[in-house]
Formats: sequence, C-alpha cells, structure tokens
Amino acid sequence: MAQETLNPFLIAQEQIRGAVTELGLPDAVYEILKQPLRVLEVSIPVVMDDGRVRVFTGFRSQHNDALGPTKGGLRFFTEVSADEVKALSMWMTFKCAVLGLPYGGGKGAIICNPKELSTRELERLSRGYIRNVSQIVGPEKDIPAPDVYTNPQIMAWMVDEFSRMRERNSFGLMTGKPLILGGSAGRSEATGRGCVVTVQEACRRLGIDVTQARVVVEGYGNAGSVAARLMHELGAKIIAVNDSSGGIYSPDGFDPNAVLAHKVKTGSVAGFPGTQPIGNEDLLQLECEVLIPAALENQITAKVAGGVRAAIIGEAANGPTTLEADAILHKRGVFVIPDILASAGGVTVSYFEWVQNTMNYYWSEEEVNEKLGVMMRRSFAAVYDMHKTRNVTMRRAAFMVAVSRVAEAMKVRGWLD
Ligand code: GLU
Repeated sequence: MAQETLNPFLIAQEQIRGAVTELGLPDAVYEILKQPLRVLEVSIPVVMDDGRVRVFTGFRSQHNDALGPTKGGLRFFTEVSADEVKALSMWMTFKCAVLGLPYGGGKGAIICNPKELSTRELERLSRGYIRNVSQIVGPEKDIPAPDVYTNPQIMAWMVDEFSRMRERNSFGLMTGKPLILGGSAGRSEATGRGCVVTVQEACRRLGIDVTQARVVVEGYGNAGSVAARLMHELGAKIIAVNDSSGGIYSPDGFDPNAVLAHKVKTGSVAGFPGTQPIGNEDLLQLECEVLIPAALENQITAKVAGGVRAAIIGEAANGPTTLEADAILHKRGVFVIPDILASAGGVTVSYFEWVQNTMNYYWSEEEVNEKLGVMMRRSFAAVYDMHKTRNVTMRRAAFMVAVSRVAEAMKVRGWLD
C-alpha cells in the first residue's frame, strides 16, 4: 500500500479537489482554494519570569474571505507546523460555509508548551502575538477564537492589548471571551453541544436509540468533556474516555461529571476509580454505537480504521481521520459525521458572540442553545440530503455543500470568469 498521507495540508487539498470535481466546477475554483490567501509567520520575544528572553514562533493563516472576514481558532501547542495551520484554516472556510455563516476561514498557532509557562509568561506571549499580527486581524478582517490549549483568559488579554493599540474597546476582535468582556452565554460548551446535536440527527436517521447508545470519547478537553456529559444526559452510556495522559474503560459506563472532577483534581482522567486503563488505539477500536474523536489530527489512521467497531463517528476534533482511513471506514459501513459539520458548534456560537458584540445586546443561554440547535440541524439536513441524492460519503457531501457556496460567492464577486 502506498504511504499514508499524514500532512493535513495535502489531506485538505485532496478533500477540496474531490468536491470541485464531483460538482463539475471550473479548475479555477480549485486553484484558488488549494492554498491560503495569506499566511503570516511571526517571532514573539517574551521576557520570562527568570529575566531571560525566549523567542516563540507564531502563525496566522487566512485561507479565503469570499463569504466574509476570516474566522478560526488560535492554538498553543508544542508541535505545530505552517502546513498544519494552513490546513486548519482551510477546514475553517468550509466549516463556516457548511453552517451558512458569513465568514471565511482562518487559523493561528503559537509553538509553545502552555503547561510549562507561568500565568504572567502566558499573558506576555498572548499580548506579543496579537501585537505582531495586529495588522491583519480585526472585527471586520479576521477574528480569532480559542482552540487547543487556549481559553477565554487568553482571548481577554488579546482583546485588551488590541484595544489599547487602537485606543478604543474592540470586543469584536476575538470570540470565546469571558462573559464579562462580551463573551456569549453557551460559547464554552458549544463545540460539544453542536457535536451531540449532529450525533442525535445521525442516530435518528440510522434508527439507533441514542438513549441506549454506548459512547467512546477520545480527548477530554473543552469539546470531549462536554460531548460526554451531554450524551450522558440523553441517557447514553459513556464506556471509555481518554486524554493525553491516559485512558479509562468500563463496560458498565461511568459518570462523565465525576471523571471531569477527577481530571480537575489530578490533571488527567487516568486512574478514575472503578475503571480499567486503556490505550488510545484500543479505545478507538472499542465496540460502541458512537465514537467521538475530540483531540487532534490523524488519530484514526488506516491501521486504526481497520478495527473501528463504532456505528457512528462524530468528529468533534479538526481532521481526526486520514484519507486512507476514511475510505476504510466507508467500506466498513461506519457513518462518519465529518469534522467540518460535527465540530462546527463552536464557531457557530462564536458567530452569535460577534453578532451580540455588534448589537451590544446579549441573549440568554437558552436562546443561544436554541439557535445553535436550529443551525446544526439545518446544516446536517443539507449535508445528509447531498449524501443521499449524490450517493457520496457524508464528508464528500459536506465539502460539496461548502465548496459550492464559496464558489458561488467567488463567482458573484468576479473572482472567477
Ligand atoms: N477553534 C474552533 C474550531 O476549530 C472554534 C473557532 C471559532 O470559534 O472561531 O472550530
């Protein structure tokens, strides 16, 4: 077998190419979409607590802005490459387009290990980053948000720094802010909640009783822990979860809230009483109705996919499945709700946050959740319809819905002939 493609940039290009071809769109659409419009790499000097200076590398990639300002998270991570950030920004374009949001796609990253930085060092790094990218971001240009290992506090420092530079408050610069600073109710839970809505929609169409489902969650951060809790509230049984330090399994299921409390106390889900340890690959191959990858890219490789025994995969992470794995899952009859749909709840409530910042009028959590549910269900239906009528996988269908919207916007703007 040919070597598996693990570079997310090449994976994203292939996904776009497939949709453009299937839709019969002109080559120019692919030529425009196969790379970002703009990528900025910055060096950020930070005075560490011991007085020494360390220079960090950061990126911001803006893929396409045909539908509106670019939008997407900012991650703090030890291993992140320019190609990865580019791919993540490409996926954001299509994620926003599938949901019908008036945004293009962007993504940023800083190469660092946030767990090794003090609060003050993190603050200096965050302020330094936004100063260095300030020319290309802004409420009408590019709007960052939380992603892997970033949080509302980091958003707040960046908004503060940018507001000082512009000499006026600019809350619409970032989303995922603390509530007191123009954050939206429901934003912190939105990615997990949106994923669960798509899983419910899939269960309904496949005739699976969600209240009896066995659920496995890979990753116990903001997306995974909320998805586990909400699935549990629906009556489903959470049988295995993990994080970067280890995994836990119990065929009888466990309470995800107690697991979260254990993680807050000990730093990991590992060692939760009444469960047995389980490795990542074994966890991904457990027999279950619903598997939710909620960690990083390339977790479900061809090797893993051959042993996946889930009926439904709801991709709460960005890019968790390789191209080769995708083909294998399709052959095995696994129903995959692709990342650009299943993980779109976060950016959807980010959009609500940005709208609320613009209006200076704020909605209740119930209103936000209600609006999120409507948008997730509507988008799921559009993708499912494409999947059925064109007889393509859910992933290909999602890219087709998204690419056709972006292409239409590019056409009316005069970017195509
Ligand atoms: N980082 C999240 C994502 O990958 C949210 C992005 C946003 O809210 O702009 O979808």
